[in-house]
Amino acid sequence: MPKGMFALPPIDNEPIKSYAPGSPERESLQSTYDTMWNETWDIPMVINGKEVRTGNTQRVLPPHDHQQNVGSYHLGTNEHVTESIETALKARARWSSMSAQNRAAIFLKAADLIAGPYRDRINAATMIAQSKTAFQTEIDAACELIDFLRFNVKYMYEIYQDQPSSSDGIWNRLEYRPLEGFIFAISPFNFTAIAGNLPASAALLGNVVVWKPSFHQIYSAHVIMEVFQEAGLPDGVINMIFTDPQETADLVFAHPDFAGIHFTGSTRVFKNIWKTIGNNIDKYKTYPRIVGETGGKDFVWMYKEANALAVATALNRGAFEFQGQKCSAASRAYIPRSRWEDVKGHLVDQLSTVTMGSPRDFSNFMTAVIHEASFDKLAAYIDRAKDSNECEIVFGGNYDKSKGYFIEPTVILTRNPHYETMEEELFGPVLTIYLYEDSEWEASLQLLDETSIYALTGAIFSDDRYVVERATKALENAAGNFYVNDKPTGAVVNQQPFGGARASGTNDKAGSKLNLLRWCSPRMVKETFVSPTDYTYPFMT
Ligand code: NAD
Repeated sequence: MPKGMFALPPIDNEPIKSYAPGSPERESLQSTYDTMWNETWDIPMVINGKEVRTGNTQRVLPPHDHQQNVGSYHLGTNEHVTESIETALKARARWSSMSAQNRAAIFLKAADLIAGPYRDRINAATMIAQSKTAFQTEIDAACELIDFLRFNVKYMYEIYQDQPSSSDGIWNRLEYRPLEGFIFAISPFNFTAIAGNLPASAALLGNVVVWKPSFHQIYSAHVIMEVFQEAGLPDGVINMIFTDPQETADLVFAHPDFAGIHFTGSTRVFKNIWKTIGNNIDKYKTYPRIVGETGGKDFVWMYKEANALAVATALNRGAFEFQGQKCSAASRAYIPRSRWEDVKGHLVDQLSTVTMGSPRDFSNFMTAVIHEASFDKLAAYIDRAKDSNECEIVFGGNYDKSKGYFIEPTVILTRNPHYETMEEELFGPVLTIYLYEDSEWEASLQLLDETSIYALTGAIFSDDRYVVERATKALENAAGNFYVNDKPTGAVVNQQPFGGARASGTNDKAGSKLNLLRWCSPRMVKETFVSPTDYTYPFMT
């Protein structure tokens, strides 16, 4: 127990470094990138704080230069899954009873390590093996991860302070217990910050975790684990394994002590996870928490009087930064027919100046998509659009995987509002546009709302307050993060808590108190100071 109600150090959003020419951070990041580019890392799993190497290795492939050998990771087996569960459960007794300030100190230190000595290393790792530009990396691997780690501590304290009222002679206390069992964290390739946050948020609340990162984010996951260990995270609290996803899921979801899943990834995988948990419900000691943030088909909708240049800029940044591989990326747009030539002009002007290549060249706005399967899938969508009599390629449409998995920023104009690229998540630099008749703007909102199964992010552009009000209401359930006159990407922890509903997830809002509430199970303690000794009540006399 603490012997004081400790105030936290100041917690604010981590300032984003610019990496502008001549800045010290630019030189330092480039030098770290170059060093790491020429090293070959041998990346182990980490179980019970120990490095585990199996000899069965897979290469880390930089998406923008897949022949470069920057290292390999060791694949585990089902035994490692079982070992990591047992290890986590053993660590639970001590970790779950550790005081809040000591848990907090570990994750605050981890944030400071990333903000300081590990900043270049985690950024360079993300640039090299996830092909993010320096700026996209800085807002993800450094700033967002730091923000998650720091703000989660603040939210945890706020949760702990949320107490019921008491009355004369009675003291009511809520204890926010960690869940009884272990948490399974499964993270996606696209955000280093999400990869760090999924295990860390649950662990901060006193839970023990088995973490399986995406095979396409292992290089930066390795740095995250180094940071957690240097920050003093006790052995066994977070165990990082590189094992077959389906076999791991089968083992974890059949375990009686499975207490919760913290997932971010595709809708298909999450639905499968949910079904498996449902089928196994009789095996568990407790109802597992199911938290999943999944896919999106994020929109931009423009009203006829909106600023065409602002819309084109939002489309460009929203659809093509990080090659459209953000769950929030704009991938369908609804433009009034009378304004299309204006928007198109600005969009094509801007896209004509976009350069694509290695993230090591800081002048590039875009780099490669994550892996060959994604490249092939995107190329097939583009080819079908080229062949379709319902579509016209307005910009881009070329691709090349000889050196890296490069896909040009591609804009498709379709006559069919239900064309496949208006409805399905592609997860790449492909934007599809549908023109609606100006006079049918209200019907276009309904069309937008009913077109896709997803409801993650979306943006409307209008300066007409009646239109803003009407569109905001009409699209109430079309997005969990809704933007007015801005691109639909770039949510910041503590400013725009993130998540969507419908097929986009359980909307538990990463980067907010709501998410942390899923990782604790409150116990109500009522204490009566002087216990009654007479069972009768006054009304009985
Ligand atoms: P993915 O679904 O392919 O993989 C996500 C994770 O699930 C990986 O760790 C993977 O190994 C694991 N996995 C794969 N098959 C599995 C199985 N059968 N059982 C258990 N785990 C399995 O997703 P991805 O390509 O890494 O990431 C992109 C997806 O993530 C997109 O759909 C994107 O929209 C979504 N995403 C959503 C958010 C959000 O906040 N809503 C954020 C980031 C990414």
